[in-house]
This record gives sequence, structure tokens and C-alpha cells, in this order.
Amino acid sequence: MAQHNIQADELSFAAEKVITRLQKEGYQAYVVGGAVRDLLLGVTPKDFDVATNATPEQVRKLFRRSRIIGRRFPIVHVMVGPETIEVTTFRGGVVNSHNELGRIMKDASFGTLEQDAMRRDFTANALYYDPQRQVILDFHHGIEDIRNRRLVMIGNPLERYQEDPVRMLRAARLSGKLGFSVDKHTSKPIAECAQLLQREPPARLFDEVLKILFSGNAQACLRQMAVLGLKNTHPLLDALMPGGESDDNIVALALHNTDERLRADKSVSMGFVLAAVLWPHIRDAWQRELAAGMRTNAAMNAAIASERQYVDKRWGVPQRYSVTMREIWSLQPQFENMRGARPYRLLGQPRFRAAFDFMCLRATLGELPQETVQWWQTFQHGSDAEREQLICVAM
Ligand code: ATP
Ligand code: MG
Repeated sequence: MAQHNIQADELSFAAEKVITRLQKEGYQAYVVGGAVRDLLLGVTPKDFDVATNATPEQVRKLFRRSRIIGRRFPIVHVMVGPETIEVTTFRGGVVNSHNELGRIMKDASFGTLEQDAMRRDFTANALYYDPQRQVILDFHHGIEDIRNRRLVMIGNPLERYQEDPVRMLRAARLSGKLGFSVDKHTSKPIAECAQLLQREPPARLFDEVLKILFSGNAQACLRQMAVLGLKNTHPLLDALMPGGESDDNIVALALHNTDERLRADKSVSMGFVLAAVLWPHIRDAWQRELAAGMRTNAAMNAAIASERQYVDKRWGVPQRYSVTMREIWSLQPQFENMRGARPYRLLGQPRFRAAFDFMCLRATLGELPQETVQWWQTFQHGSDAEREQLICVAM
């Protein structure tokens, strides 16, 4: 038990409600993980996770609006008003199966609170807060490490990375996002284990990449990736890293924009950010098609088609983002055609705004003249007469 400065009223209404209910039924229940860490840091948690000794089925029966999800390990999503609370059952110490590299394949055993704490990644993430008694349970000196702004892996770091290589990315993301240093025993094995990430399913890596991009501190996270030696591990990650596969500034520019928007609580389009991240690939393919004699629009569509496999399969970009990305890319050549009815048609495209913003990024990098940005700026806000005039000038 430890001294702390968490006020019970800082908890979300939903988390409080879920915990109270579980405890009333005689179960143990705590707020756990990132939320406790963030509260101690004075940061508003973005979501609340609850850990309990009730099984997923028992949790499911207690809350009408809830469902069991998860393959590797079942968890329960409990909906309270607009909030969703993730409820996990304490995990056991026994891992059911490892592959030849020590990777956890399946692990569905339930355990005690102490075992659950052992299975978490970093000491700062293994704190359990009981809002009823207003105490924090701290089995691994997490509070002290938070106070020293230090990320420390629980247990043997090498084994923990072999069990689950994504923990290396989490080390980069959390240290970058929180401004923590990484303990030297925690960082040391990363360079030698980094290659293990290549075997991770693209979809899981993509989820982690999204968390990095959405952290509000993407640039710091990527710097941490470089510092920790997470290079040449996966094409998607490399494309994101400074000085990686593409040292094109459009990535930095897009990430900078994203960080600023997130800090100002503005919305961010992931399709847009990914369109920028992958742009150097598409631009190169486009140039190749142009050099082979295709016309500009056709060349772009051919480029997009030829990179599609790569983007969808190798990088693991889900459909819901890749559709937006492709729309943004395919409209790019059309900004260079300011004659006749074409500008009107482009303006009428549902993705015009995103494509225009993207074109502005490209112009900042010198891919297009600033006059083109000016022209479209005036054209989109102009009156009918002004538009006619612009079209005449462009002819
Ligand atoms: P964030 O603030 O970004 O949500 P978080 O630490 O809460 O950070 P989550 O992905 O929400 O990250 O995970 C919740 C908790 O689950 C973590 O705090 C940690 O205790 C545990 N956890 C998550 N992923 C792993 C992992 N790969 N290995 C071990 N424990 C993990
Ligand atoms: Mg979390």
C-alpha cells in the first residue's frame, strides 16, 4: 500500500461504477495500468482499465451492456453511458504455450492479483488502485519509478521481449509519450531482439503504430524508437522513422501537424497521416510510370494499383484507412490542371478538402509551386465571376 495523490473524483464515472458493482458482488476490482500511472502524473487518462478476479463470464452476467472480446486473452467491454471500460480477469503465471523463440502463442490461464502484476510490462503500468479504500497496490516499485520518470521492465527484460516483441515498441511509445528515461537493463536487450518484430502479424504492429501516431507525441516516440535501436524491423516502422527508409520530410511535417492538432484537441484523419507517410513510395512509383510515358492521371492510378499489395499486406493498413489514402493520392495530379471544367469537377469531389491540404504539404516541400496553392485557395473561396477569371488566366 502506498501514499498517493489520486482523488476518487478523478476517476471516470463509469470506472467507479463498474468497480463498485464488482466489489458489491464480492469480487476484487481495481483500476489498473495506464490510467493509474497517468493520474499519478497529473495527466487525464484517455481510458480506464479494470482488473478483477471475476471471470469474463461472471463479469458479462453482471452488466447488461457488455460483451466478451479478444482472442489471445478474453476481456470484457462494459459500456456505461458513453464510456467503455475494459475489464480483464487477473492473468496467471503459467503461460500455456511458447513457440521456439519463446514467443507466447496462447495464454488463457487466470491467476491471482500478484501473478497479474507480474505479467504486466512496466513497473509504472503495474499499479492497482482501489477507489473504495483509496489505496494503490504497488508490487514492483512502480510509484518510485514514476516519481523518477523511469520506465523499467518487470522481470527479465530479454525474456519479456522474447515472449512478446511488441513490448519493445511499447517501451519506445511510453518513454516518448511520457518523457521517461528507459532503465538501462530494460533498453539493453532491445537491439538484439528488434528483429523479432518482423515476425509479428502486420495487423498487431499496425495497431501499435496507430497508438504511436495518435499519442500526441509521435515525433518523440519515433526518436525513442531510433535511440532504442528499433531500426530496420518493419517497413511501416522504418518509413515513419527519422532517417529511415525514407528521409522525406513530408512524414515529419505530417506528424508535426498531427501532434499539434491532437494537443489542441482537434480531430486528426488517420487516412491523411498515412497518406503522407506512404507518399514517398507512391510518388516514386508515379514518377516511374510517368517516365514510362503514361499520362499523369493514369500514371498515378497505375502507381496506386502497383503499390496496393504492399500497402495492404506488408504494411497491414486496414481498408478503412487505405480507401481515404488512395482517394487523396489519386486526386493529386488533378491540382496541376487548372483549365476548363476540370477545376470545378475537382472542387466537387467529396475528398477535395483532404486532397487540397495534402497538396499544400507537397507545395511546402517544393513539389509544386506556391502559386498553385494560391490559385486553388482563391478558386475554392471565390465567387463565380472570380472563378471564371482564374480559369481564363490559367488557359
Ligand atoms: P496508454 O495510456 O497509451 O493506453 P497503457 O499502458 O494503458 O498506455 P494499454 O495498451 O492500454 O497501455 O494497456 C493497458 C495495460 O495492460 C498496460 O498498462 C499494461 O499493464 C498491460 N499491457 C498492455 N500491453 C502489454 C504487453 N504487451 N505485455 C504486458 N502487459 C501489457
Ligand atoms: Mg490504456
